[in-house]
Amino acid sequence: MESPFDNIVNCCGCGACASACTHKAISLIANAQGFVYPVIDKDKCIDCGLCRKVCGYGKTELLHREKQTCYGGIDCSIEKSQSSSGGIANVISQWIIKNGGVVYGCALENSEELLVPRHIRVQEEKDLRKLQGSKYVQSDIGETYIQAKKDLKNGLLVLFTGTPCQIAGLYSYLRHSYDNLFTIDVICHGVPSKQLFQDSVKKFEKENRGKVKSLLFRDKSNFPALNQKIIYNQKIIYNQKIIYNQKINVRYYTDSTYYTCFLRGDIYRDCCYSCPYAKQQRVGDISLGDFWGIEKTNPEEIRQNGGPIDPKQGVSCVLVNSDQGELLLEKVKNNLYLFNSDIESISLNNHQLNHPSNKPSCRGHILQQYEKHGYDGFLYAVHNAYKWPDRIAKTKRFIKRLLCIK
Ligand SMILES: Cc1cc2nc3c(=O)[nH]c(=O)nc-3n(C[C@H](O)[C@H](O)[C@H](O)COP(=O)(O)OP(=O)(O)OC[C@H]3O[C@@H](n4cnc5c(N)ncnc54)[C@H](O)[C@@H]3O)c2cc1C
Ligand code: SF4
Ligand code: SF4
Ligand code: SF4
Repeated sequence: MESPFDNIVNCCGCGACASACTHKAISLIANAQGFVYPVIDKDKCIDCGLCRKVCGYGKTELLHREKQTCYGGIDCSIEKSQSSSGGIANVISQWIIKNGGVVYGCALENSEELLVPRHIRVQEEKDLRKLQGSKYVQSDIGETYIQAKKDLKNGLLVLFTGTPCQIAGLYSYLRHSYDNLFTIDVICHGVPSKQLFQDSVKKFEKENRGKVKSLLFRDKSNFPALNQKIIYNQKIIYNQKIIYNQKINVRYYTDSTYYTCFLRGDIYRDCCYSCPYAKQQRVGDISLGDFWGIEKTNPEEIRQNGGPIDPKQGVSCVLVNSDQGELLLEKVKNNLYLFNSDIESISLNNHQLNHPSNKPSCRGHILQQYEKHGYDGFLYAVHNAYKWPDRIAKTKRFIKRLLCIK
């Protein structure tokens, strides 16, 4: 793979290069679509080559090749949890903090009237809730690689969570292995830009004439209210809770063009469509994702069949990829309900473990229109791209319903 410095399509924006440059010559600057890329200030750069050296994007030697063990599972108190999936990341994070460590992960923070997805350092248990929940947008790494290195050198237990490319970025920035470092990667099918996400929030604010204070991408609390007869599949769990100053609004994903495009794979960063981490071999000590298809592969685990798991509350797949990962899971397993699984069953319904997301033919046009005409241009382009496919799908659903009634 060509270096991201020679071919920008191979840059995931992790910021390891910027963190490593002691001359502060690299800034991550957003392009017109809001995706950040490293830009070198020639006046500050001394041509030492370190940035190229630390860039770990796509380096296959960072992938674990030890024996992988796989489970499905949930936090034993999942009903109280606001985690997106089975809440495993949160249980592990709690153990790290209880043992004097620090946890790094993505929070959606309210800053200067904007919701900002960024990595933060958490040292107190009460702040772990900021990390819970998937934020379907690219998170800024900021100074967290640098902070994590200091913590590691000071001997603290460090858990770093993020997308696989962010975990690869951390390892290559550190260039040293630490016994006190644990990593979790989330199985990830791609990230849209922060700018597009923030524009979508501004649109909600305009429509609802209120400031958005926070947003949950996967709200489980209002889930049954949407449709009592809902069955578990990959689409129905995505309802957004938007918290305004005066009210709370729960919307199904189809009510948000941003969210619909995220799930369809229309608006990811360029590199996500050739993601080198979309495979069964993983970069993190533990990989977490949704256990899609549990009703087919492990029906006995489901509550309606007498098992302990209510899939509507979320259920995770857990891939343990290294000795560090095994050690970590051993420490927390009394707080989890786990059942044995295997990579074949898990990857059957999780394409991201087999290949990167497909790039839809309309992506280029949609993002170009966003670049030229802002969020309204984006909405118009999406509407046009999906006008006929949506109409056909609606008609098919209608005919199916008619036939069922008969
Ligand atoms: C952009 C994105 C795409 C995903 N795509 C898939 C997929 O294709 N298939 C699948 O099975 N699972 C996917 N997931 C993972 C899934 O949504 C859950 O995050 C995962 O199962 C962990 O659930 P949990 O309940 O254990 O974690 P929680 O307790 O809900 O904690 C969430 C964890 O995810 C991290 N995180 C949240 N948002 C981000 C972000 N934007 N960038 C980096 N880290 C973040 C947090 O730091 C935290 O550790 C995706 C997650 C993200 C963020
Ligand atoms: S280190 Fe990260 S941000 Fe820098 S060039 Fe490589 S992939 Fe891009
Ligand atoms: S070559 Fe050295 S000084 Fe120049 S940007 Fe890269 S790391 Fe910084
Ligand atoms: S799909 Fe791959 S490249 Fe894109 S954010 Fe996820 S891990 Fe990074």
